[in-house]
Amino acid sequence: MILIAHGGVGSPRERDEQVMKAVEKGYEEGMSALEAVIAVVEELENDPTFNAGRGSRLRLDGSVQMDAAVQSEHNIGSVAAIEEVKNPIRIAEIVHDSPYLLLVGDSATKLGKKRGFESKDLKTEDRIDELEEMREKLGTEEKLKDYKKFYDEMQGGTVGCVAYEDGEAAAAVSTGGTSYSIRGRVGDSPLIGSGFYVGEHGAVVATGKGEEITKRLSSKRCHDMIGEYGLERGCEIVVEEFPEEHTLGLIAANKEGCVSADNRQMARASIEE
Ligand code: ASP
Repeated sequence: MILIAHGGVGSPRERDEQVMKAVEKGYEEGMSALEAVIAVVEELENDPTFNAGRGSRLRLDGSVQMDAAVQSEHNIGSVAAIEEVKNPIRIAEIVHDSPYLLLVGDSATKLGKKRGFESKDLKTEDRIDELEEMREKLGTEEKLKDYKKFYDEMQGGTVGCVAYEDGEAAAAVSTGGTSYSIRGRVGDSPLIGSGFYVGEHGAVVATGKGEEITKRLSSKRCHDMIGEYGLERGCEIVVEEFPEEHTLGLIAANKEGCVSADNRQMARASIEE
């Protein structure tokens, strides 16, 4: 099993141990790459210090809307703007095993509740305080005109995991999105080629400013660069060509091993056995 996970670009390296605790969940005898990445991301969603599941950033209206995705060698499942659900990655897994690729909003939420994942307890005190600060900054209508400026200062965070086991690669990703986001905003995380990609050169997951990642299809680009230049250089190239003012972190795994690359600090952990 080759497995690497991250706690979101911008997350301090002091959290490496928390990420390692999650990685261990994915390293159980007999697990496939797909089962492993889902187990790891679920564990990170349950840790309220990361921006996914419980502990997700709040939208400007005070709601929590999350995006998650999973890809195996065989299929893809994504959810976007899902609410009141403890583990969005488990709902993405259900979509992965359905005839659909991407389920959004109410449908995703209903499915999550029906399958027993309902939670009214996703908002942490820290996130409520963070929202208060944002609202004070944005404040008046006048200031809202400066919205773009504030959004350029946004903070994100996403949890992700990629694995390679027994000839198969898999990727999983989950996020509460970025700060200063309005309801309905969807980033890169649930979009194939943007927030994640699995192909002949392995599995890739991205974290960072979703709009910029999506414009550049950074995960697919990284996958293709790995094909040309190998794991390490492939990831580095994509980070180097990304505008420095925007955040980007990447993790990738294939039969050669696993790597990460980023333009800010990023908590991470890996196992190769
Ligand atoms: N990529 C995530 C988003 O834009 C946030 C992050 O990873 O920092 O929703």
